[in-house]
Amino acid sequence: MATITAKTKITRSAETKLKIIVVGAGLGGVGAAIALLLAGHDVDIFEAASEIGEVGAGIQILPNSSRVLQAWGMKEALERYSTKPAQVNMLGWKGNLISSMDFEASAAQYPGTFYWDFHRANLHKCLLDRAVELGVQIKVNARVANVEIVEAGESATVVLESGERHTADLVVGADGINSRLREIMLGQPDPPQLTGDLAYRLLLSTKEMLKDPDLAEFVTNPQVNYWLGPDAHAVNYVLRGGELFNMVLLVPDDMPMGANTLKGDVDEMRALYHDWDPRIPKLLELCESVYKWRLCIRQGMDCWTHPSGAFTLLGDAVHATLPYLASGAGMALEDAAVLGELFSRSQNPRSSVEKQRLLTLYEQCRKPRTEMVVQRGNQQQWFYHLHDGPEQRERDRAMQAMDPGEAL
Ligand code: FAD
Repeated sequence: MATITAKTKITRSAETKLKIIVVGAGLGGVGAAIALLLAGHDVDIFEAASEIGEVGAGIQILPNSSRVLQAWGMKEALERYSTKPAQVNMLGWKGNLISSMDFEASAAQYPGTFYWDFHRANLHKCLLDRAVELGVQIKVNARVANVEIVEAGESATVVLESGERHTADLVVGADGINSRLREIMLGQPDPPQLTGDLAYRLLLSTKEMLKDPDLAEFVTNPQVNYWLGPDAHAVNYVLRGGELFNMVLLVPDDMPMGANTLKGDVDEMRALYHDWDPRIPKLLELCESVYKWRLCIRQGMDCWTHPSGAFTLLGDAVHATLPYLASGAGMALEDAAVLGELFSRSQNPRSSVEKQRLLTLYEQCRKPRTEMVVQRGNQQQWFYHLHDGPEQRERDRAMQAMDPGEAL
């Protein structure tokens, strides 16, 4: 199998080196820092939280984003924490197998790529370690309140809530779905859009599962399973080579207005799945406590970049999607890779005209793809949640006929 060559850091003179501030140390922000550091620039990250880390549980990294991570020189570090599932199974809500895709065979169509499942904390830490190795400076407890464009776009000043001011040649807003920087860019309040769904996210220890022959197979034969049912679906896969079991339940949103994350009621959650494939109620019996996340999206924007060329956006801040294609972080990492590639090629990136040109290209490369992913995420909501009947049977037939390569 072909390997992907890791990039080496470009050495630049002071005249061609940019000072870049990335706002937000999520997967997208740290990814952007790595890509821009490899391009030879200086990067600082400003993060609002007091500690850097990832909440949540598992994350699937599909072949497209595994290529990006390998090109950033992270294959070895990541393989220590990754689980490579053998296949993805699509099941009906009663447990009937609809279709199965062999990950190894499909990844072989794209040499050097992988399907990887991670605990988010491990993926995030590996990214952070790589960024630190490349020379990033990170400031925590640094909530950005405003961005001011200086002198016809030659630079931008980030104003922290504390009043501190920091000026850079380029500011990248990777501040997530509730992005403040997006509002600054648009000049108006712009709340995320509700989708009508929420996610229960569970992490189970696999010790108890191994005692039950019905559940042990999930651990001993790593696979990704999707159960599709009326108005809801469920996804699961193992993490850390079988140490933990990740489960996400996607159901209609019943959260009060204004809440984004709440402690969930385990009995209420179990009741929603009591008549599904009997293995699901069994798994839910092993769960002691759970949180639920409201699922919102961002439909994209006419323009991601300030016309000055000193400020752009990246990741969920621009194109947060329903997680039904397991691609939100993948899109943020791809954004970062494209941004880094463009800023690695320019010999004159300090000129505001050149920055404008590069950011326009960045937006042109990323907009159609990320808008398509948000739109397809919305379609999957309908597709996955069909009630039993002619449309559901047609869906199942279409899934059986699908070329595995289409899923990439
Ligand atoms: P975030 O991770 O939200 O990071 C934003 C950062 O900015 C945060 O650290 C925040 O504290 C900081 N910040 C915010 N405001 C400010 C400010 N004003 N100043 C300074 N800092 C600020 N994607 C996949 O690719 N595969 C999957 O399997 C997958 N599964 C998912 C399952 C669920 C249930 C959900 C909800 C999402 C899933 N995703 C998945 C999507 C993925 O989690 C997100 O797309 C990704 O984490 C977004 O990264 P980000 O860096 O853009 O934003």
